[in-house]
Amino acid sequence: MKLRWLAVIALAALLVSLASVYDRTVLHFLGWDGQGSDNYSAWSGSVPALFTLAGMSTLIAGLWHHINCQEPGCFRIGKHKVSGSPWCSKHHGKARHRLSVEELLERILTATDTANDASKSLTAEVSAANQASQRQMDQVLEELRAPR
Ligand SMILES: [Zn+2]
Repeated sequence: MKLRWLAVIALAALLVSLASVYDRTVLHFLGWDGQGSDNYSAWSGSVPALFTLAGMSTLIAGLWHHINCQEPGCFRIGKHKVSGSPWCSKHHGKARHRLSVEELLERILTATDTANDASKSLTAEVSAANQASQRQMDQVLEELRAPR
């Protein structure tokens, strides 16, 4: 795709340069002849216009690349951000990382270990609280049973 456009642009530049060498009508068409100095019309007219065109096309292409889908050859606007890059509704599924069975198993085992650790910690805290509560109940019962 890009190679074809480069070939077209190179061919057009070659045709214009050959025509300008052999035929003055191309120079007249571009406005590069018939002024006070030889190159006045070129430097004050079409050459700055070409530079402006190149700059504007670079700016527009950069802005388009910023919002365009990252799939090669896709011209849709990217509405889904995946890792900071825009992807269209058709291709965003390809950009998202699919987990392998090993990665899924690793995540499940990590989550299970974390849950088991939290459960053990909570069980230890509840057991300690129960023992403290039981000691307090025993003290109260001893105080109640003690002869007065
Ligand atoms: Zn796309």
